[in-house]
Amino acid sequence: MEQCLFCKIVDGKIPAEIVYRDDSVVAFKDINPQAPVHVLVIPVKHVAKLTDPAASDGKMLSQIFATIARLAGELGLEKGFRVVANCGDEAGQTVHHIHFHVLGKRRLNWPPG
Ligand code: AMP
Ligand code: ZN
Repeated sequence: MEQCLFCKIVDGKIPAEIVYRDDSVVAFKDINPQAPVHVLVIPVKHVAKLTDPAASDGKMLSQIFATIARLAGELGLEKGFRVVANCGDEAGQTVHHIHFHVLGKRRLNWPPG
């Protein structure tokens, strides 16, 4: 079966600007950044969407959020940042491998579009 785009990035089959990786989590720069800092944090394991039962794996989620917290320090986001996870078509999910957008280094409006 054809691998999804982000599984290909995990496997190094397509290039990405990786900012962090370990056995469970990979973080890389978004190819179409919406803020001066825009990275995507993903599990190595393929899980298509947040409503899949596998997305509720507490260990996986804690590894993702520990990575986000560490990156916030490393990327200079002490003034604030936003974490976004789009789920489903209406929310604009275009890549069906769960991912957490981390956006920062600009004023972020609320509500989002
Ligand atoms: P979403 O719309 O929430 O599914 O987010 C998918 C994100 O993946 C978008 O912000 C895209 O810009 C980003 N993206 C798509 N292809 C790549 C790629 N090859 N490398 C890095 N980011 C990508
Ligand atoms: Zn995948």
